[in-house]
Amino acid sequence: MAISFQAKNPLRQPITNISRSYGPSRVITCSVTTTNVPQPNREKLVVEQRLVHPILSKNNDPTLESTWSHRLWVAAGCTTVFGSITKSIIGGFGSNLWLEPALACYAGYVLADLGSGFYHWGIDNYGDESTPIVGTQLEASQGHHKWPWTITRRHFANNSHTIARAITFTVLPLNIAFNNHVFHSFVSTFAFCILFSQQFHAWAHGTKSKLPPLVVALQDMGMLVSRKDHVGHHRAPYNSNYCVVSGAWNKVLDDNKIFVALELVLYMHFGVRPRSWNEPNSDWTEETEMSNNQA
Ligand SMILES: [Zn+2]
Ligand SMILES: [Zn+2]
Repeated sequence: MAISFQAKNPLRQPITNISRSYGPSRVITCSVTTTNVPQPNREKLVVEQRLVHPILSKNNDPTLESTWSHRLWVAAGCTTVFGSITKSIIGGFGSNLWLEPALACYAGYVLADLGSGFYHWGIDNYGDESTPIVGTQLEASQGHHKWPWTITRRHFANNSHTIARAITFTVLPLNIAFNNHVFHSFVSTFAFCILFSQQFHAWAHGTKSKLPPLVVALQDMGMLVSRKDHVGHHRAPYNSNYCVVSGAWNKVLDDNKIFVALELVLYMHFGVRPRSWNEPNSDWTEETEMSNNQA
């Protein structure tokens, strides 16, 4: 049984438009007669539709841009944090006590880094875009592992609006209910660091030469999470370095396998597997970018 070249190689197109200079001087025709040739399995010939240029599409992705809704939520979050800071400062001048507020600020800063780690671990490992309230945040966070560099192109309000909304609903009642300036020193610092934690995270993905000098100085001093601190989060086994304020808690949490222990507890009680237990697949694999902005 004769089988045509095209039937054996169904995806290969017939060669046409051969330049005359490369062709023979005489035209030779060749015909092959096929009889009872089975039709190739059409289902196997379906080429999977893939994102041919993910880099280009992500560079121009309108979902990375801020909307007015994003900006309003960030403005609301900043306003409530500013209200808390104001109460802290006014109370400090009224009492002339500054050591306690200073210590409270430091505690807020240190615990915000810890809080960012737990929050980041939660949204990386559990839920998906259908999860109520934080679904878009989960989708963005989990997508961040596939396209880490896009965080540097995501607009500030787009990146921070979900956290700003949570800050607004948490800090506003505290502003109304409490006047203790030491308490507000803690709350305002903690809330400020959490509100801007996604921006700190974005800076950790930035190229040093393109970052503001003050940011680079704070990263070098260890006051903000640096690229060096954060890069381990985007490398196998993808289950460490979750803290994104200063990154100071990462070593403590990772060395003591705190998140691994929590994942085991959740699995034993609720049967829920964290995403980090799966073999790294395309959802976790960093694709390369032509520029040098990736972590
Ligand atoms: Zn992550
Ligand atoms: Zn990252």
